[in-house]
Amino acid sequence: MNTNFLQTPITYLKGVGPNRAETLQGELGIHTYQDLLNLFPNRYLDKTQYYKISQLQRSSAEVQIVGKIIHLKSVEQKKGKRLVATFADDTGQMELIWFRGQKWIRENLKINTPYVIFGKCNWYSGGFSMPHPEMELLDQHQKGLKVFMQPIYPSTEKLSNRGITNRVISKLIQQLFLETKGNFIETLSETLIHELKLLPKSESLLNIHFPKNQELLAKAQFRLKFEELFFIQMQLIAKNIRHKQKIKGFNFDQVGERFKEFYEEHLPFELTNAQKRVIKEIRHDLGSNAQMNRLLQGDVGSGKTIVAVMTMLLAVDNGYQACLMAPTEILANQHYAGVSELLANMGVRCALLTGSVKKSARKPIHEQLENGELQLLIGTHALLEDKVKYKNLGLAIIDEQHRFGVAQRAKLWHKNEFPPHILVMTATPIPRTLAMSLYGDLDISVIDELPPGRKPVKTVHRFDSNRLKVFRFVRDEIKKGRQIYIVYPLIQESEALDYKDLMDGYESIARDFPLPDYRISIVHGKMKPADKDYEMDRFVRGETQIMVATTVIEVGVNVPNASVMIIESAERFGLSQLHQLRGRVGRGADQSFCILMTSHKLSSEAKTRLETMVRTHDGFEIAEVDLKLRGPGDIMGTQQSGVLNLKIADIVKDNAILKTARYHALHLFKQDPSLEKPEHLVIRHAYAQLVKYKNIWNYIS
Ligand code: ADP
Ligand code: MG
Repeated sequence: MNTNFLQTPITYLKGVGPNRAETLQGELGIHTYQDLLNLFPNRYLDKTQYYKISQLQRSSAEVQIVGKIIHLKSVEQKKGKRLVATFADDTGQMELIWFRGQKWIRENLKINTPYVIFGKCNWYSGGFSMPHPEMELLDQHQKGLKVFMQPIYPSTEKLSNRGITNRVISKLIQQLFLETKGNFIETLSETLIHELKLLPKSESLLNIHFPKNQELLAKAQFRLKFEELFFIQMQLIAKNIRHKQKIKGFNFDQVGERFKEFYEEHLPFELTNAQKRVIKEIRHDLGSNAQMNRLLQGDVGSGKTIVAVMTMLLAVDNGYQACLMAPTEILANQHYAGVSELLANMGVRCALLTGSVKKSARKPIHEQLENGELQLLIGTHALLEDKVKYKNLGLAIIDEQHRFGVAQRAKLWHKNEFPPHILVMTATPIPRTLAMSLYGDLDISVIDELPPGRKPVKTVHRFDSNRLKVFRFVRDEIKKGRQIYIVYPLIQESEALDYKDLMDGYESIARDFPLPDYRISIVHGKMKPADKDYEMDRFVRGETQIMVATTVIEVGVNVPNASVMIIESAERFGLSQLHQLRGRVGRGADQSFCILMTSHKLSSEAKTRLETMVRTHDGFEIAEVDLKLRGPGDIMGTQQSGVLNLKIADIVKDNAILKTARYHALHLFKQDPSLEKPEHLVIRHAYAQLVKYKNIWNYIS
């Protein structure tokens, strides 16, 4: 079948009028034949099994039962009526219930005639019932086409309200197969099909929609998942290659004096092997004539800053300027203080630019940046302002990338005629599988090792009823000179409530830890930035011992003397957030603690989160659990990336297929970068179609 034929608008399909077309478009994004063909079932029902009423379980999934309707009645309810049938087989009775279409059903149902009913059973006050069952006379059922596995397609409330049921979708797909004769163009090369023992395209599509048996279904699923992931990887890899070819980077071929001097004389500690490896990777990028676009992942405290500093020195050594952008003023200040200290006496000129830098102080910064006197600039979003112009920006580093949008990243690019090298640092571990799909177009470095001598944070879970004991512990720690964080949740939907929780908490803490022995800082989202910074500063300087805060402190703040993190209502936090918060402590030499406070009421998911936190410190392990609990949809960054638009593969469950797909996509480009070889024409054609009809498989923007 001609691929262009599959671009036919869905209204042309028999059985689809303008109304249905509109609903299909709005609800499922089905515009064309191709879209319908690629509407894959969520799951399948085993239609070979029949249940007896006595065998029904309370938590039943869909079941198929043979029996007769022996009685039919209307029951008044608060709003309107419902139609209730008593349905019986030789083992018992149950009810069938209709809320809609009662008249039609009443007129067409046959009493005392064998039916096969199909649907989900509910258990309600001592009996089973099935709302809106699918029904077929036993006669017809036996005569009809035997379906072993019934596909269940994605559905929405609107679809079912408008009568576009699963059966209707199945019929439309049948019609599509009639019109196309089930012939579809192959999209993968013979080599791949042979090597991976894949089912051909047409057979896969047939079996995904009308499985002949379990084995063929599994094969069809594998083939289509592979294909989907393969083409995504191709797109990502192609983008990366294109990028490297097209976008020339500044060549930092000098490992010059400053880098050497720093390495030999000023490095305050021995680099970990992971840090060394990452610096090597970066140096390789910078000397490769292409623009670097690298994501540096490293757990909190893994030592990303020193990597940033050394990378900036490489820029300076090669005669370029560099900038480091942080998401908050506090962080920018800390980076500035840290970098200034590290580079003291090295004759590198560095400035800080944030929202609170006065106009009068900005002017010289702007000037010296333009004439090249300033070599390094550290700051916040302020760096992105149009007034900020560089003489020759060769490198831009972004810390904690999730706080910045793609648009901001792009803005940095345009600070120069040629885009600077970009290094994005994040402490939010992204599971490798996800990273592969999300950032396949970035190169990724990972610091997977903490500096030596770090004592892992002791993490415990305590119930609110243990609060007195917890406070006693806090008093002891303060006596030893330590500082304490107490964090309250902040969840947008109930901001007012959260605020009240925080204030109530603050008041009771103030009562338990009174002046003059104890001094408390408080930071929350309703405060002005300047007030926040003031309170934060007092805590950083050690003037206050307790910091009561909402999650605003989550990102990157470094107070080595703070050794206890108490998280209130910990069950309300997500795993990655808990992990980030815990990362605020354990930065000094003392044993640190993280106390997760919760009520006794915990969902099983919350329990898993808490147990995971207590069990492990490994950010990647935590991220994997998080991904499994929440699915990719809720993980930051996936929303824009289109990973969610996967039609059949699941990046969590189909991890192994993803790896295979990436391997083969890489291999293909290595062998035949422009896909010229005759055996690759199939793939080349399919790929071109994908790119052309972006709306069909719109994975990557
Ligand atoms: P993050 O990756 O969270 O940004 P930092 O760069 O702030 O981590 O480093 C955390 C702490 O660890 C800092 O105090 C830093 O000086 C220290 N550190 C970093 N690398 C090493 C190392 N190789 N050996 C010892 N301490 C290190
Ligand atoms: Mg950091």
